[in-house]
Order: sequence, then C-alpha cells, then structure tokens
Amino acid sequence: LEPKEEFSHKTLAMDVMRPRRSDPPLSVITQDGMSVEDVESLIAETSYSGFPVVVSHESQRLVGFVQRRDLVISIENARQRQEGVVSASRIFFTEYTPPQPPNSPPPLKLRGIMDLSPFTVTDHTAMDIVVDIFRKLGLRQCLVTHNGRLLGIITKKDILKHMAQMANRDPDSILFN
Ligand code: ADP
Repeated sequence: LEPKEEFSHKTLAMDVMRPRRSDPPLSVITQDGMSVEDVESLIAETSYSGFPVVVSHESQRLVGFVQRRDLVISIENARQRQEGVVSASRIFFTEYTPPQPPNSPPPLKLRGIMDLSPFTVTDHTAMDIVVDIFRKLGLRQCLVTHNGRLLGIITKKDILKHMAQMANRDPDSILFN
C-alpha cells in the first residue's frame, strides 16, 4: 500500500465518536442556563454516565465534564439541606454567580463537581492514537472537538466495540493480539 492510501483508510475519532449522524444530538449542560428541574429531566430522560458542560448551545464551547452520579447526589443534597433550593433554582457551573433577580429562588452552585479539564481530541485524530491515550491514561471517556467546538464523545466501551470490529474485519491486525 502507498502510505497515502494507507492513511486514507485510517479510522479517525470522528468515525467512532457519538452521536452518529442519525442519532439525537449530544446531551450537554449549559454552564448557567439551566434550572434544577431542567437537569433533573435530563437525568431522567437519559442514561449517560456523564455530560459535557458548555458555555451555550450556540457556541458549543467546552467548559468541563460532570459525572451523572455527582449531579444526582449534589441535587439531592441541595434539595434536602440547602435553604431554599427548589425546581426553579438556576444551576451555575461558572466561577461567579450573578445576582439573582428579586423573588427568584437561591441558585445552586455546582462548579465544584465539574472536571475542569476533561481529555479532548480533535475529530481528525487517528483512532490508534486515541486507543493508546485511553490505555496509557486509563480514561473512561474523551471528548471530541473541531475548531474548539464540542462535537462528540468516545467512551471506553465505544473503544472496546471499535476494537472488536477492527479485529473482525482484519484478524491479523495488531489490535487483535
Ligand atoms: P458506556 O459507553 O460505558 O455505556 P455511557 O452510558 O455514558 O457509557 O454511554 C453510552 C453511549 O452513549 C456511548 O456510545 C457514548 O458514546 C454515548 N454518550 C455518552 N455520553 C453521552 C452524552 N452526554 N450525550 C450523547 N451521547 C453520549
């Protein structure tokens, strides 16, 4: 094979990441635009282990990553113990919380449970490099970006499925060994 041809056959992060073209969009949380109720619905309607936090839906700029179980525990705790936190309370992942409009319930600050530097690769990163990074860093998930915009996610299970597919297609491949 010509090196160029070989390169064109390489699987890239964009080929393995979710969502696929036909899937619903990535489930994200905005850093200052959601209420307790909004996040509780997102948790109830999905089963993902975690959610990327973005500046806004329009920008899709990545701010961090929050684990589902940390969200669940923090919201439960806040509802039980934190004076006045209710369904309509705004959730903030930002460093500073702007003054709330009069008569609005107290906000819930969750920056502390967010991973501020989740691992990211660009959509054009070759999958053999991504697999290597997962192995070496023991990652559970990795986010995929293009020009700084969040595009998708690759979990450890996505990687394992991808490797099983590669092994099926090419039993002699190094990934099989
Ligand atoms: P696992 O891959 O271990 O089952 P998840 O339950 O988090 O972990 O993810 C299930 C599938 O959904 C995976 O294919 C993953 O790429 C995708 N996924 C994970 N998180 C999200 C999310 N926030 N929005 C959309 N898809 C996601």
